[in-house]
Amino acid sequence: MRGTRSRMSVVLTLFAFAAAAFVAFMLFNDRQPPAIAVSHTGDRINLSLPVTVRATDEASAVAYIDVAVRFQENLIPVVRREFGGSGQEELTFTLAGLGLKNNDVFDLEITVADNSFGGLGFGNKNSVILPMRLDLSEPRLTVKSSVPYVRRGGTGCVVYSASKEVAGTGVKLGDLFFPAFRQENGDYLCFFAFPYYLDTKDFTPLLTAWDTAGNRTAQNLPVTAVPRRFSSDTITLSRSFLDAKAAEFEAVVPEPLSLIERFLEINGRIRRENAKTLMEVGKNTAPTILWRGAFQRLPRAAPRAGFADHRVYLWEGKKIDEQTHLGFDLASVKQADVPAANFGTVVYAGYLGIYGNLIVIDHGMGLQSLYSHLSAIGVEVGSRIAKGEIIGKTGATGMAGGDHLHFGILISGLEVTPLEWLDDHWIKDNVVDRVKDAGGTLPEFQVSGPAAPQGENEKKTKPEKPGNKQRRRSPARR
Ligand SMILES: [Zn+2]
Repeated sequence: MRGTRSRMSVVLTLFAFAAAAFVAFMLFNDRQPPAIAVSHTGDRINLSLPVTVRATDEASAVAYIDVAVRFQENLIPVVRREFGGSGQEELTFTLAGLGLKNNDVFDLEITVADNSFGGLGFGNKNSVILPMRLDLSEPRLTVKSSVPYVRRGGTGCVVYSASKEVAGTGVKLGDLFFPAFRQENGDYLCFFAFPYYLDTKDFTPLLTAWDTAGNRTAQNLPVTAVPRRFSSDTITLSRSFLDAKAAEFEAVVPEPLSLIERFLEINGRIRRENAKTLMEVGKNTAPTILWRGAFQRLPRAAPRAGFADHRVYLWEGKKIDEQTHLGFDLASVKQADVPAANFGTVVYAGYLGIYGNLIVIDHGMGLQSLYSHLSAIGVEVGSRIAKGEIIGKTGATGMAGGDHLHFGILISGLEVTPLEWLDDHWIKDNVVDRVKDAGGTLPEFQVSGPAAPQGENEKKTKPEKPGNKQRRRSPARR
């Protein structure tokens, strides 16, 4: 027993020696200093922008991060923090309280070291020197176009200039952001929406911009907000519709549910998810205008439902759901050819919940068109499309019971009424002339022929029964 124990302790001692030797070897042998990554890029900074320094050391642990400002002949300490044990450490600081003034030019000196015995026992050191200028001036924005006239559910257009270089700018409205795009003459052009779900009094867009130094501005954007009431509609669900859709809906929501429960999941949760997806798709947009002239709608097609129709769904005589229909429903012959409404690039081509087989075409600067319920998709993401080019065939995929095209227009992912963009005169008055008045130029634009059919009236169908104000219809179209 004794012999075994002593042999064990010899082995353990040898093992401890080997481990210590290995650690010492690693510490002395580590010649690599930690790598430095700084969150701030650019050579301007203000007093409140948080800057994060990350030090990463492959072989040893990070010992400290030290930040100082070299201004004229002085080295002003900003922050220094010691660490123990980890190969990656972070430190966040601002330049507040150092006595720096607007336009002061200085160096930001960042030094890091590891805890090895390299560097004569002080660790391997690494440092970066970043030349900076203190910039406390907010970008000032000056609106150059006349006050946008925006109808509820519609699009607005504004042209403005910025007093300095900006990192980003656009119209902000609650959680929504509509980016602006720089024009050849240096001005910014922004298309923004008056969301269908807001009242006139709640439509208070802000013009916003920020620079790389961390300065941010937001000012009220004066608009003429025009109220609009939307139609309402009742849809009576039938068992035959749910039976016909059973297999397709089960592929979207596979959980074990009754037909009507699954319908409600798709009409509610999946609808909201799809709206989020379209918001993401909306960010994928060209910085220039790709469209030319008014948008085209599906030819020889009867309008079946309008933008922002409020829909009440009935099942066995009871109201079971309410939703808003965002787009135009246009019915032609079955599997009719669908032409692209304007020039652009395909940014979505595939199945998406309530939309079924869906194509989204980007027309630049946040403007996109949407073609849904297709039976066939004839294009791929990335395809450049000409106005009128056939991109697919109408169908009844997704939340549709009968063959039709659901056509939509989106501004930075939010659905707006397509009517305005189908109308030469609206485009001329609200986009082309405004840009021109502000001293800018747009791609060649000609108003062709008479105005597009008048507004929401075109979709109105006669009530089935005299005196019945609401339209009622079978669930053929959604
Ligand atoms: Zn529709």
